[in-house]
Amino acid sequence: MKPIVILGSGLAGYTVARELRKLDTHTPLHIITADDGRFYSKPMLSNALGKGMRPEQLASADSAKMAADLNATLWTDTRVTAMDANAHTLIARGETVEYAKLVLALGAEPVRPPLQGNAAAEVCSVNDLMDYTRFRRALEGKKRVAVIGGGLIGCEFANDLRAAGFLVDVISPGKAPLDRLIPEQAGHALEKALANLGVTWHLGNTVKAVDKRDSGYRLTLADAAVIEVDVVLSAVGLRPRTELARDAGLEVNRGIVVDRQLRTSHPDIYALGDCAEVAGLVLPFVMPLMNCARALAKTLAGEPTPVSYPAMPVLVKTPAHPVVVSPPPLSGTGQWEVEVREDGVRALFYDAAHTLRGMALTGSAVAEKTVWIKELPVVLA
Ligand SMILES: Cc1cc2nc3c(=O)[nH]c(=O)nc-3n(C[C@H](O)[C@H](O)[C@H](O)COP(=O)(O)OP(=O)(O)OC[C@H]3O[C@@H](n4cnc5c(N)ncnc54)[C@H](O)[C@@H]3O)c2cc1C
Repeated sequence: MKPIVILGSGLAGYTVARELRKLDTHTPLHIITADDGRFYSKPMLSNALGKGMRPEQLASADSAKMAADLNATLWTDTRVTAMDANAHTLIARGETVEYAKLVLALGAEPVRPPLQGNAAAEVCSVNDLMDYTRFRRALEGKKRVAVIGGGLIGCEFANDLRAAGFLVDVISPGKAPLDRLIPEQAGHALEKALANLGVTWHLGNTVKAVDKRDSGYRLTLADAAVIEVDVVLSAVGLRPRTELARDAGLEVNRGIVVDRQLRTSHPDIYALGDCAEVAGLVLPFVMPLMNCARALAKTLAGEPTPVSYPAMPVLVKTPAHPVVVSPPPLSGTGQWEVEVREDGVRALFYDAAHTLRGMALTGSAVAEKTVWIKELPVVLA
């Protein structure tokens, strides 16, 4: 019997495997992953430092345990380089591997900002446990860190690095942090709280060059200001990993295009998680992929099941000033109604019919989240 093959051992790959094994204990399952196959919760990478957790404490199981628990064959440190959708084969470790059904759970690649300077290649980014281990090593004995990007991950790292005693500069082109997700007033509340914690902001600015300087780096900003730091972390966004699918002739847009059954343009190949564009939506967060994994497991077990998305707010892990956000749909017209309070902001996005379409709650307003989540429409019914 040809196996179901899953590419990727992140939350998407492992969750679909786990869900499948609840429904089907016997179909051969083969997981191939470019990393070391340890199971860890990626969101913890941006709040482990302040909690004093070492990288190895973030992994709850190694690849051998995962293979045993899932009754799966697991190939670690193996990058799949090509696949042939019509022949139902892929190439890994120089071998041709056959599959009955293939699941792409390939994740996303950190975007590298266009930087000049002789140390541009030394800028860190953290998108998996191995990156994080390298980042932690780079921080050893160091004091000053520059974070490029004031989005969700940049803000979380800024808060976490400060909590662990580092001096932090954040450089971001927006007028306020999280500017792609929440209205400016809400962003300013977070900016102020992190500034009170000691974060130095360089908003409306970008990094032009990173150069080596003694044991650290000199950053030259677009406005010609100069910052000297020991470590540079880039957190400017992620791009779905689509090359393998594109090269195999599958339909690719921002992500690997799949329908509500997580099916790509080839009927026996599925995709979910950060690499996938599900019914036109690229949502690189945990809740969407969990919903996808449950639906896909049923489909793989013989019961075709479309994914449904409830409202799925994201909690930004900035304990200095927590934020809960459910951004309005990209295509949605409407406006934010913002109430700025002394210790938080409540921002609600209404469409023309005054239906709630999005929300951003910060600080003390986060306490209201259950009330507003109930009012938010489902994302995919
Ligand atoms: C620092 C950080 C904090 C976050 N915090 C939150 C949060 O608080 N809440 C939230 O909802 N989301 C958060 N996210 C997003 C969330 O973690 C991701 O959406 C999720 O973990 C993605 O899982 P994935 O399995 O799709 O991708 P990944 O975890 O990236 O897994 C991809 C897998 O594919 C493998 N792979 C790639 N290419 C190949 C290849 N060619 N051959 C074989 N294997 C390959 C990789 O080795 C890896 O195993 C955070 C993300 C980051 C980076």
